[in-house]
Amino acid sequence: MLTAIVGINWGDEGKGRMVDLISRDYDVVCRYQGGNNAGHTVINERGKFILNLIPSGILRPEVTNVMGNGMVIDIKHLCGEMDKLAAAGVEITPDRLKISERAVICMPYHVRQDCLEEDRLGDAKYGSTRRGIAPVYGDKYLKKVIMMGDLFYPEQLKKRLAGIIDYKNLFINKAYGAEAIDLDEMIEYLTVYGDRLKPHVCNVSSFLEKAIDAGKNIMFEAQLGALRDIDFGINPYTSSSNTIAAYAPVGAGIPNRKLDKVIGIMKAYSSCVGEGPFTVEWFDKEAEELRAAGGEYGAATGRPRRVGPFDAVASRYGVFAQGADTLALTKLDVLSYMDKIPVCVAYEVNGERVYDFPRGVELDEAKPVYEYVDGWKCDVSRCRKEEDLPKAAREYVDYIEKAVDCEISLVSVGAERSEYIVRK
Ligand code: GDP
Ligand code: MG
Repeated sequence: MLTAIVGINWGDEGKGRMVDLISRDYDVVCRYQGGNNAGHTVINERGKFILNLIPSGILRPEVTNVMGNGMVIDIKHLCGEMDKLAAAGVEITPDRLKISERAVICMPYHVRQDCLEEDRLGDAKYGSTRRGIAPVYGDKYLKKVIMMGDLFYPEQLKKRLAGIIDYKNLFINKAYGAEAIDLDEMIEYLTVYGDRLKPHVCNVSSFLEKAIDAGKNIMFEAQLGALRDIDFGINPYTSSSNTIAAYAPVGAGIPNRKLDKVIGIMKAYSSCVGEGPFTVEWFDKEAEELRAAGGEYGAATGRPRRVGPFDAVASRYGVFAQGADTLALTKLDVLSYMDKIPVCVAYEVNGERVYDFPRGVELDEAKPVYEYVDGWKCDVSRCRKEEDLPKAAREYVDYIEKAVDCEISLVSVGAERSEYIVRK
């Protein structure tokens, strides 16, 4: 069984938490894209964990975790993440964490370039997480990067890095006027953090192939959501990788395999980190109330997230882009305070109703069209069966299911492992 767990919206739908829950039936959890710009929060009996690079399966001792070739890895950050987990009693051996030899290393100069460019843009900034993600993926496509497997050949690595750094300094030093990148410093950096990670680096394709042939269940854990996909998201306010499920086999290292199932994680309302059009955005008191109820502050950055009601237009598009077979609706409990719950059912663009998610200027100018569903005004976090939910809450879930035209099979009503309802 090859299953992808992916975000339907702008990210932060609660994927980490769902992977933690669903991974009990899986032998391997694999991240296939992105870097430490992600923040996946998992709360279980051992405490609260925020994972940026390491797959959320690390919190289950019996699960093997894979970081695929589609990822960009900040090796210093990864070592720090491993230290934090070790301090909390989570053991990370090379058997439990495997890193693709083809995964790309996100270097300190990528982080620097990210910050220099965001600062240069000023008010026109993209809202980058400033973790170097866009520059490192840019360099990947320019074929000017170091891969994890290169760490095993220090002499060749040094030669190659020297050429790359000459090139990078044309930007960092000559264009931006920042201090030049120093080759020896970068070699030292790669040695210190690389040496620690080398035991984990391997050919993950052959590991995954063997696992699949042995009948193991593999789960692919996405970062961010459909609307941040580099090809299908809201350009240029996307991430720089493919967050969609279709990319999972490629980014994991098994382009020859097909997914059996795609589980989309969709939030009962909307949140968005960073810049760009966000049609359903609320402001002031309305936003503050929802942000407080949902605890909407970035897991990776601590930034207050932009929030608003559920957006059926964007979510329907998200379901399409992900090719979701089924959905898990998260954070239903957060809406318990509302009298009437708005749902954006269409956009108005140039005076016309639009039901398909637009792009470019049309999206910039879109206004939300709302319908209102009755609230339930009581705590639902202790509900464990569909029948336990108040009628209005059941109707809200039904309404959303219809609006996005994809079954909702799971509803989560709290952040803890046990706080969910299986619907059908
Ligand atoms: P991810 O990036 O998709 O993994 O999501 P994040 O971890 O960034 O954000 C989701 C947040 O919502 C985390 O703080 C979770 O602990 C929390 N969370 C997840 N599911 C639920 C839920 O059903 N109810 C509530 N109240 N919180 C939830
Ligand atoms: Mg997140």
